[in-house]
Formats: sequence, structure tokens, C-alpha cells
Amino acid sequence: MINFTLSDDQKQLQELARKFSKEEIIPKAAHHDEKGEFPREIAAKAWELGLMNTHIPAEYGGLGLGVIDGCIITEELAYGCTGICTAMEANVLAAAPVMVAGNEEQKKEFLGQLTAEPKFAAYCVTEPGAGSDVSGIRTLAKKDGGDYVINGSKMWITNASVASWYFVLAYTDPTLKHKGMSGFLVPAGTKGIVVGKKEWNMGQRASDTRGITFEDVRVPERYRLGKEGEGFKIAMGAFDHTRPAVAAGAVGLARRAMDEAIAYSTTRKAFGQPIAGFQAVSFMIGEMAMNIEAARLLVWKSAVEIDSGARNTKYAAFAKAFAADMAMKVTTDAVQVFGGYGYSEEYPVEKLMRDAKIYQIYEGTSQIQRLIMAKEIFDR
Ligand SMILES: Cc1cc2nc3c(=O)[nH]c(=O)nc-3n(C[C@H](O)[C@H](O)[C@H](O)COP(=O)(O)OP(=O)(O)OC[C@H]3O[C@@H](n4cnc5c(N)ncnc54)[C@H](O)[C@@H]3O)c2cc1C
Repeated sequence: MINFTLSDDQKQLQELARKFSKEEIIPKAAHHDEKGEFPREIAAKAWELGLMNTHIPAEYGGLGLGVIDGCIITEELAYGCTGICTAMEANVLAAAPVMVAGNEEQKKEFLGQLTAEPKFAAYCVTEPGAGSDVSGIRTLAKKDGGDYVINGSKMWITNASVASWYFVLAYTDPTLKHKGMSGFLVPAGTKGIVVGKKEWNMGQRASDTRGITFEDVRVPERYRLGKEGEGFKIAMGAFDHTRPAVAAGAVGLARRAMDEAIAYSTTRKAFGQPIAGFQAVSFMIGEMAMNIEAARLLVWKSAVEIDSGARNTKYAAFAKAFAADMAMKVTTDAVQVFGGYGYSEEYPVEKLMRDAKIYQIYEGTSQIQRLIMAKEIFDR
């Protein structure tokens, strides 16, 4: 049976997240955008309400909910502000490698920290010289007795300065390329970690993005995730869990832009009538609604696939690429509907357009999503 209806529990979750977004996020979004201030208090409130870490299994203190439930929450939080939403969602990305490959002790220690207190974690893969081409990373983890010693620099790390621990991808044997990488869990207080200055980005400024340098950072062997050489598989496998929610964030952002455009177009008058009366404007809004709906269906499909235990890599790439490109188009059109006012910081849509752009870049660019789709179609 095909059913597009949310369960009663999911409807309650959606309502809770929607109310939270309206009361706690929307009133503070402009402040966090302007100041670039990390939304610690908002995240703590969301944590209290159970809107964070929903995917972590109950035995480690989470709610044990599915990827689909996370997507429903994310769409609502992103409707309020995607910068604030990303600050909270970065935990999901950091936790995903632990969910995919962590042993019992690692899950208890690292996932347990996120559920015991409103703490943060970060996923450290990208480097100054390597983003899309993950095999180009230079960070090395050298075995030394019962420890590994990590040296290297990471770049564009979300939550870098607030994280309690990091997932770090490094080469344990660079001669083996992808098969020579390993993943490590590194507590933030470890000697040798240097966190860089906050990047002042185009959008999503509430989220904290920085470089991190690892200088002779020593971690015990028990903090290696999986076996030596499994790091690439673990780091990339994490995206199957997280890309549906990233795409859901783009849907929430686009829905907000559409709502702003609808409200404005019914009040703004030109040539003696509300601009919504012009087909050129109302068709733009009709197309926004159609594409938001299509993107949400891809999000739900990609989430339901992984929740049912199926391989969702292709659908996660469909959802991420389609929703990101759609959000960019919808927010650009929303600015168009506002005319000159759309270009002003006095109105909300210029922020939405700035915030949208990163969806086409982080967690794999729109070009890389198309590479994944093609690989999935032709190789399988
Ligand atoms: C705000 C922000 C937050 C981020 N958060 C994190 C984080 O928490 N953790 C983390 O590890 N990383 C993070 N990133 C990094 C992000 O994932 C990378 O920026 C992204 O993967 C692209 O890598 P790059 O910037 O090195 O661009 P490049 O890989 O250099 O790409 C440049 C351009 O070339 C294109 N391109 C590259 N290779 C190909 C190809 N084979 N075919 C077609 N086109 C190609 C790309 O699509 C892009 O348009 C973040 C980035 C930003 C800006």
C-alpha cells in the first residue's frame, strides 16, 4: 500500500517542531544572522523538548526514531532558520559514522554524551585542499604503540568550536587510497587540537564553521571506528542517513520563501491591483508549490527506503540535489516577487536566498550528487 499520510505520532512531532520554530526560532533568526552568534540556548531548549538526537537508539538515551521522523522535524526547524537548524543538525552528521560503525562502548560513550546533555559534535572530513575528492585528504594517523597520532588540517567544519568530540577521517596507509583511510573519534579537549577563527559565510551565519588543525593529537586505538581501512566507507555511508534530512531542510527553507512571497503578493499593489493578480507572479508561486511538493516526496522516499533497511544512496542523492536546486530557485523567485524590497535586508527573503546557496555545496555538491546518481544507475 502507498500511503502519504503521517501517523498520529508523526503529526504530533511535526506540530511540536512547528510551534518551536514559530516561538523560539523565527523571532531570533535575524539576530543570529546579523551577529553570527551560535544558537546555544535555542538548541538547549530543543534538546529539552526531545527535538534533537531523535535518531539515537533508546539504549544510548535517544528516542530511537527513524530518518523520516528526523526529516519531519528538520523541515519545520528549517522553516524558522536554516542557520539555526544546521547548528543543531550537525550533530546528526557527526553521530552518523558512530551509528553506522561504532561498537557498543563507542556508542555508549559518544552518542551517550549527546543525549545526556545538550552537547555538540562535528564531522571532520573536508580539508583546505580536498572537498569533493575525499581521496585527496592529507591528514595522517600514525600507529604508535596502543595509540594513533593524528596530524593534519580540516576545513569548513560545522560546530568546530562548540563540539565535545569530533569524527575525523585520516589516512592510516596513504598508499592504499580509499582503502587506506580510517575514522577516529577524538574528544575535543585532546592536546594538539587547534580550532581556527569563525568563517563569516554568505548565509546560515548562526552555524559555526571553522578550520581545525590536529598537531600530534594522540588517541587510543579503541577510538578508531571499525577496522583500519574502513574509514572512507564509514564516512560516505553516513551520508545515506543524513542527506534526506539535509534535503528536508531545503524544503523547509523553500516553503518559508513561498509563504513570504504569497503574503507579499496579496498585499503589494501595482497598476491598481495586488501583484498576485498578474499571471507572471501567480505562476511563479504555483511553480514554487509544485516543486516544494516534489522535493518533499523525494525526501520522504529516501528516508523511508533507509528506514526499511534498503539501500537509499540513489534516492538520497535525488532528494539532496533536487531539493537544494529547488530551494535556490524558489528563494531567487521569492526575491523577484518582492521586487526592490526583496533585495533589502529589511525584508526576510534576501536572507532566505543567501541561506539557500549552501544546500548546493555542503554534504556533497549538486554536481557530486549527479555523479552518485549516475554511478548508482550504471554500476548497479
Ligand atoms: C558552510 C559550510 C559547512 C560545511 N560543513 C562541513 C562539515 O561539517 N564537515 C566537513 O567535512 N565538511 C564541511 N563542509 C565542506 C563541504 O562539504 C565542501 O565544501 C564540499 O564538499 C565541496 O568541497 P570543496 O569546497 O573543496 O569544493 P571542490 O571539491 O573543490 O569543488 C569545487 C567545484 O568543482 C566541482 N567539482 C569537483 N569535483 C567534481 C567532479 N568530479 N565532477 C563535477 N564537478 C566537480 C564542485 O561541484 C564545485 O562546484 C562545509 C562547507 C561549508 C561551506
